[in-house]
Amino acid sequence: MKDNNVILEVKDLHKSFGEQEVLKGISTEVNRGDVIAIIGPSGCGKSTFLRSLNLLETPTSGQILFEGTDLTDKSTDINVTRQKIGMVFQQFNLFANMTIKANIMLAPVKLGVMTKDEASKKADELLTRIGLLDKADAYPAQLSGGQKQRVAIARVLATDPEILLCDEATSALDPQTTKSILSLLKEINEKRGITIVVITHEMAVVQEICSHVAVLDHGNLMETGTVEDLFRKPKTDAAKRLVLSGFAHIG
Ligand code: ADP
Ligand code: MG
Repeated sequence: MKDNNVILEVKDLHKSFGEQEVLKGISTEVNRGDVIAIIGPSGCGKSTFLRSLNLLETPTSGQILFEGTDLTDKSTDINVTRQKIGMVFQQFNLFANMTIKANIMLAPVKLGVMTKDEASKKADELLTRIGLLDKADAYPAQLSGGQKQRVAIARVLATDPEILLCDEATSALDPQTTKSILSLLKEINEKRGITIVVITHEMAVVQEICSHVAVLDHGNLMETGTVEDLFRKPKTDAAKRLVLSGFAHIG
């Protein structure tokens, strides 16, 4: 039996786009409840890696095991697993033609896991939690960037995910708004025990919410460890460069 604490296991993951090999054999494990930052220079494969974790990108080879189930196995129903793997993007990706509440209700109703009434109740709860119940009937264009990102997070929480994947979720936000999104993520992790993987080029994100770091460089996983270890004793040159640069200009 696999260690119960491991929620996600990646085995020798390769991904090529045509001739270009973007992920060159990544193997790693993510423990339940951890908050992991993926850092590395622009173009090194961070987004491709994250997107592969819920098969938004199809791996060229390798395996992704979520709670022991191999997502790359053709007999696995990826739509069932995707409910448990939430994804949040830099550009929010809300549906512009739907109200805030409709955005949040969409997935659970469409996936058939909730009736409309149940989803409506859940959406109200989530909107209350993110402090935006008064915006339920507003449209995304009427919200600020920070409010949109809160809604995007609420929308993902509507299907009760066990892991949240965030691709530069705060990169488009000012420092104050970033702080409020980070405390929301922290609360989600601490109160609900949701595992979080974030791609970031912001030192603040790593320092404020992350327990662990994974350093990517040219499609290779260079090192993984605690945040403390990375800052105190980075092992690889790639990690040393990132620490010295203060992560600036690498996103
Ligand atoms: P990062 O997020 O670290 O900046 P990405 O994962 O977005 O890097 O991209 C890694 C490399 O893969 C880049 O060279 C990028 O141009 C390439 N790439 C990403 N997505 C695609 C795609 N859909 N088709 C072709 N090339 C891609
Ligand atoms: Mg990226």
